[in-house]
Amino acid sequence: MKETTQSVETRSPEETWRFAEEVLRRLPSGGVIALHGDLGAGKTCFVQGLAQALGVRSAVNSPTFTLINEHEGTQPLHHVDLYRIGSADEALGLGIDDLLFGGGITAIEWAERIACLLPPTTIHVTLEAGDGPEVRRITVRWGGEA
Ligand code: ADP
Ligand code: MG
Repeated sequence: MKETTQSVETRSPEETWRFAEEVLRRLPSGGVIALHGDLGAGKTCFVQGLAQALGVRSAVNSPTFTLINEHEGTQPLHHVDLYRIGSADEALGLGIDDLLFGGGITAIEWAERIACLLPPTTIHVTLEAGDGPEVRRITVRWGGEA
């Protein structure tokens, strides 16, 4: 598949939500979104935008102990945060491959920790701090490899 890259700048968390909604519209069901970026970059904020677009009612936050949260929406939203994961094997032990190749939308923070497990169709989203406290540069890579 040919790889395309899209890059935008958002100026508030709300703008990041709206952009996530746009990305979701272009994502096939069963799609996997790998989120990259430092702590505080806005990965969870982006997942909140996905949740809104899917009509999820439960709160999406940064899980302290849970690594996988499932939310009911127009399709299921699996929110995975691998910050505390030690290895890809540990993620496999948690059943991550069922999510990667199952239904619903799967959004994974710190996805580079399981780079070897991600399907080739994974969409990569990288968030970086911009020029101002509420500015973020968001780059989306469609159809590439990790
Ligand atoms: P991460 O999951 O990458 O650690 P979070 O989404 O939990 O980051 O936190 C991002 C923080 O930055 C939130 O407090 C959010 O309100 C704030 N923020 C400010 N501007 C933006 C923006 N443009 N996009 C996303 N988050 C933003
Ligand atoms: Mg987070």
